[in-house]
Amino acid sequence: MVNPARRSDSASGSVRVALPLPLPQAFDYLADTGVVRPGSRVRVPFGRTHRVGVVIAADPPTTLAAEHLKPIEAVLDDTPLLDAELLANLCRAADYWCGAIGDVVFGALPLALREGRAVTDFAEECWRATIAGTSSRDAHTRRGGSAALLEILGDSTLSANELDSLLPGWRAAARRLATAGLIERTASSRDPARLRDGATPILTDEQADALATILAAGDGFRAYLLQGVTGSGKTEIYLRLTERALQQGRQALWLVPEIGLIPQALRRLRARFDARIAVLHSNLAEGDRARAWLDARAGDAAIVLGTRSAVFTPLPHPGLIVVDEEHDASYKQQEGFRYHARDFALLRAQSLGVPIVLGSATPSLETMANVEAGRYTRLRLHRRVHARPPSPVHVLDLRGLKLEHGLSPALLEALDACIARGEQALVFKNRRGYAPTLLCHACGWHASCPHCEKPLTLYRGRRQLLCHHCGHSQRAPGACPNCGTVALVPQGQGTERLEEALGARYPDIPVLRVDRDSTRRRGAFDTLLDKLADGQPAILVGTQMLAKGHDLPGLTTVAIVGVDEGLHSVDFHAGERLAQLIVQVAGRAGRADKPGAVWLQTHEPEHPLLATLLRGGYDAAAALLTGERLASGLPPFAHLALLRAECRQREALEGFMAAARDALEPLDRDGPRDAHISVNGPIAAPMPLRAGRHRAQLLLESPQRSLLRKALTDWLPALHALPQPRGLRWSIDVDPVDLY
Ligand code: ADP
Ligand code: ZN
Ligand code: ZN
Repeated sequence: MVNPARRSDSASGSVRVALPLPLPQAFDYLADTGVVRPGSRVRVPFGRTHRVGVVIAADPPTTLAAEHLKPIEAVLDDTPLLDAELLANLCRAADYWCGAIGDVVFGALPLALREGRAVTDFAEECWRATIAGTSSRDAHTRRGGSAALLEILGDSTLSANELDSLLPGWRAAARRLATAGLIERTASSRDPARLRDGATPILTDEQADALATILAAGDGFRAYLLQGVTGSGKTEIYLRLTERALQQGRQALWLVPEIGLIPQALRRLRARFDARIAVLHSNLAEGDRARAWLDARAGDAAIVLGTRSAVFTPLPHPGLIVVDEEHDASYKQQEGFRYHARDFALLRAQSLGVPIVLGSATPSLETMANVEAGRYTRLRLHRRVHARPPSPVHVLDLRGLKLEHGLSPALLEALDACIARGEQALVFKNRRGYAPTLLCHACGWHASCPHCEKPLTLYRGRRQLLCHHCGHSQRAPGACPNCGTVALVPQGQGTERLEEALGARYPDIPVLRVDRDSTRRRGAFDTLLDKLADGQPAILVGTQMLAKGHDLPGLTTVAIVGVDEGLHSVDFHAGERLAQLIVQVAGRAGRADKPGAVWLQTHEPEHPLLATLLRGGYDAAAALLTGERLASGLPPFAHLALLRAECRQREALEGFMAAARDALEPLDRDGPRDAHISVNGPIAAPMPLRAGRHRAQLLLESPQRSLLRKALTDWLPALHALPQPRGLRWSIDVDPVDLY
């Protein structure tokens, strides 16, 4: 720790400090700017307390006179925790997404480092097999966790962080093996990253072309869209580019949209490289997370693999950024600081001067527009590596048909045939629970949430009614609370009901449900997927969790039921999401050595979006949707910012929103705003009541991003200056990915 700067002698300047508070501003303190560098943590007096802050600027251009500033109390980092690039981009991001600077800077730090703990507290923990462990017979007689751990370690050194992701519960095995002298704890392996022998396939022509294009462009910043269906070999391209970065002694950052995809990516990386990999996601113990982050910051981790917030990892030797499944809405943070990890990654790639590859089978319309505009280079992988043609899609017109639990006779026949052939099927339904509504057949009463006024979902297994919007739950009544008749009927189907119906139809094979309810426990998803690994006949019933890049090699039949809700949503993103979902789910069929087939049930086979998608594929659907966006002046042809507010008192909410609207008017100095920015609202949110809070919103829209930003810069201080009614919460969402 550096000596505290004292006001009298060494305080020769001022620093601007971000504090972990939801306030728009940072605070200035006296400090010796020869010692205190931007990016370092400091302890400062704040009101009557003391706080840890992060210096974001030395000698800011405007500040209070020195006699009004207090000196900092201590400098906590000798070398800045955040380097200049990351700090500068965090400040830009705070500005762009209207985040409070303290929230943004502290949000980028692992929790354990937000306090004053020293960097040196986080000693690395690595494990490797001893000579006895790699050679002895004893090793081969071990079973279960011990055998798995020895196998995973092989001849390399792995960090505790990597082991956490590869083998949940590994510590018990580590204790046993360490006692037996078969493995040992070591300092980190600082050997340079190395390619493992014999693991690299020969590229297909398409892959070779795509790779050659990227390599030919050199090491500088360039953005690529790598568009190819699941199984077309995108990951192999990421691996080759990572190989080049590692050969140059540089780091690669890989982002995936959800935690469940990490083990798969980690296995692929480990199989190819003997290198330190820092794994970062929200399910780590805080110490491990800090350790992985510091590992990357020190340049020891050659590869950083993680979910959304891993985009805030320092990269002192940057070489490559990969954003897999770039279209996935999970990259957008939906509360607090509402950044978009893909867009932040692009910002960083640009300032770091490295290539960035966005991969997807179903790119977002924004990314496709950037390709059109010439900002990104598109590379296509049209064919699957293993030469499987895409599975045919059969549309099942439901009109007038008699359905069994929402399943049509033709679909049931297809499932029968699939099971009879000894294959696996997937039934996709994007609704959890047993039924989305519980209705009284006698009087028309239906169960609705007292706090949201929306139907409650029935969970029959738990005999519960649950609100998916606020989490309210109550016991499912046996008789109608309104008329007393015992005539309550579940309406519609959720995954639980399909699981029950299919389980009854196919009693001899496993019917496995994959949704947020069935995979809540850590590792539960992997356990479920393991049950499919033997290739025996089985049926998976699941929600959109199954649409996300998981390897499901044994599936041949995919049934998509109940997509019609998505055709009529008020949210302008719904069409894009639906097209992505259908293509992603359909892409699960027939990956390995057996042809697949996709069955899509709908009441609206002629709906333009469905018809276009089925006839022309994702590109045609995207073109249709892009045309609609253009016609209605929506992104990517306009830029949006959404003010959301909620409050238990409707009058207070309405008063605040009206004042927020009025606060826009005086900003109209440079001529009529209407010409450039349109203001919609205030109006009630699409969900006007949630968890007992009334909700309203105001949408700003402009064809020019710069104008929108200018308006926001002027408006934000005005919003903060408004009287804030008790219990009212508001937030600004720039480039919202949904309007709820
Ligand atoms: P994607 O990321 O597009 O889903 P992957 O890179 O995972 O595709 O490739 C799909 C499968 O094909 C993987 O099992 C991968 O190991 C394999 N694969 C990829 N490229 C090749 C290749 N050139 N030769 C042989 N197998 C390949
Ligand atoms: Zn009734
Ligand atoms: Zn509710």
